[in-house]
Amino acid sequence: MPVALFMQACLFDPQHGYYARGAGLGRDFTTAPEISQMFGELLGLWCAHAWDALGRPDPVHWIELGPGRGVLLSDAWRGAQAAPAFRDAARLTLIEASMPLQAVQREQLAAAGARPAFATRLEDAPEGPLLLLANEFLDCLPIRQFVRAEDGWRERLVGLNETGELVFGLSPTPLREEAMIPPALREAPPGAVAEVRPSAESLLAQLAQRLHAHAGRALFIDYGPAASEPGDTLQALLQGRKQHPLAAPGEADLTARVDFAALAEAGRALGMAVAGPVAQGAFLHALGLLTRAGRLAAANPERVAEIAQAVARLAAPDAMGALFQAICFSSPGLPPPAGFAP
Ligand code: SAH
Repeated sequence: MPVALFMQACLFDPQHGYYARGAGLGRDFTTAPEISQMFGELLGLWCAHAWDALGRPDPVHWIELGPGRGVLLSDAWRGAQAAPAFRDAARLTLIEASMPLQAVQREQLAAAGARPAFATRLEDAPEGPLLLLANEFLDCLPIRQFVRAEDGWRERLVGLNETGELVFGLSPTPLREEAMIPPALREAPPGAVAEVRPSAESLLAQLAQRLHAHAGRALFIDYGPAASEPGDTLQALLQGRKQHPLAAPGEADLTARVDFAALAEAGRALGMAVAGPVAQGAFLHALGLLTRAGRLAAANPERVAEIAQAVARLAAPDAMGALFQAICFSSPGLPPPAGFAP
């Protein structure tokens, strides 16, 4: 089977899939909102600012894709207290495929005083003016992998060997249409691996449709380089440790880095206004990370060291600051989003 099918089954098989079983968030990996409340708070203010740029529509659909434990949106909701008119106008919808995680999210949001609606797919979310957040969502959408051979590109497959173990292999014939391969990688040398993410492309197409019909803005943050690079980036994490991607299907989290250049290109081709990608560190600093950290530290002097450490983890170039990027898609004709100034 193609790598994408393997990934899909490992993550979303209704019985044995990693997310379907409730996911080991916080055990297998730690995301930015789980590092510090400052991340979600700044994104909440970003949304309030973006709402203003949309012309303060009421209602506005505030949607998060893949909310994990619901920490980001509950911090964002609290952060948006500073803009009560925005909070009054906002209708929250969480898009979550995993039922156990929906339950966790409902509880987390309730504790923050919010009562979101739920859907399992963006298709089922209400139509209208839109503010969308997605942190570490794209990295778990399945990828297809292609390996450059002497005679063209062959798809990387997962199968069983004679002794019944999972192994990687290659499609017997080369790919007919090279158009699938990102242009920057088409001339890569033999052995190079190109990754494509068909479901991210269809997600963007759907987003574009919504952003053309109503004013809106969507912010994606994830790990990956700003420019397309070849490489096999399929990664399995179990209890914080890297595993072979075929070692623990359904038990380990499986992700692959996001190709931000390909996303930006696809977004523009669909007629959306694209800002970024910018490095997460630069983005958070532009939104006032240090100001927020200073206030939080002043109010909680016993937590100064922890807050300083969180700033470093989120924004330092050798931590998430440069490994992660932010990209924003908007309806055409809106002023530029906050945090993306050159
Ligand atoms: N955004 C969170 C969690 C990231 S983990 C954070 O920053 O902490 C990825 C999340 O996306 C999980 O909640 C997972 O269940 C969800 N998810 C992954 N693929 C999905 C899909 N195709 N549709 C809906 N939810 C999905």
